[in-house]
Amino acid sequence: MHEVGIMESAIDAVLRQARTHEARRVHRIVLRIGALAGVEPDSLRFAFDVVTNGTLAAGAELEIVSVPARAHCATCAEDFAVDSGFIYSCPRCRRLSGDIRQGRELELSRIEMS
Ligand SMILES: [Zn+2]
Repeated sequence: MHEVGIMESAIDAVLRQARTHEARRVHRIVLRIGALAGVEPDSLRFAFDVVTNGTLAAGAELEIVSVPARAHCATCAEDFAVDSGFIYSCPRCRRLSGDIRQGRELELSRIEMS
């Protein structure tokens, strides 16, 4: 389950921030996860509990914000929503595009601590 590795690096970053701010507790962590990032929110939640156990972030609330996938069509100069796969077809002109502009996010967007 590679979500554990992903969560380990996210929590590392959180704990580094917490130390910098001399925080005693981390209350809430918000992650932005793209639809194409290839991670399961349920597995991330499980990994979160495991990885934060015994740290300043233990018991913190984990919020996962999912970011829908969008690709760009150079012909129409517009972005369009995509589901899955690797090559996407523009709904307007049907041309194929592999130019993903959104949906691969895997980022820490917010940390609340005190
Ligand atoms: Zn198009």
